[in-house]
Amino acid sequence: MGVEMKCRKCKGQMTITADDHRYRESGLENVVLKGIDIFRCDCGERIVSVPRVPELNALIGENLIRKDSPLAGNEIRFLRKNMGFTGKRLSEIMGVDNATISRWERDFQQPAKAHDHFIRLLYITEKRVSADQAKQIVESVFPEIKQEIKDMPDMILNPAAWTTRPA
Ligand SMILES: [Zn+2]
Repeated sequence: MGVEMKCRKCKGQMTITADDHRYRESGLENVVLKGIDIFRCDCGERIVSVPRVPELNALIGENLIRKDSPLAGNEIRFLRKNMGFTGKRLSEIMGVDNATISRWERDFQQPAKAHDHFIRLLYITEKRVSADQAKQIVESVFPEIKQEIKDMPDMILNPAAWTTRPA
């Protein structure tokens, strides 16, 4: 497609392929991005080119707050960072100790259900999720959240799902 890139390490010509990419940069293990441009060099250098990261993260966040089991530590961390809060700031907003946020995020302690719901509701507010969606999440998703944390199945996302949406 005429996309060329020189390797920043050896200045060699990189080759490009569209591949699936497990998006571990997010701190989550279960997000798979389909057909992402990956540049590779013979020297071993590899650059993953994820388009429109803010919109992608917003899509992931909206999937997480619809999860039907309690938020796991790395999911709480993802939502917090996506809202732009430090652990300290989130603790102030929630009225809990800073150390509590840290224990949640490291899976040393599971948040009470009300705290789990609060984090989701805060996300709805901060990210300006539409009023209709917010109502649906609060009234239909929240009552269905189970007690046990379970791993979400892989979230398989096509670029079309996030590159066409507003951030
Ligand atoms: Zn190279």
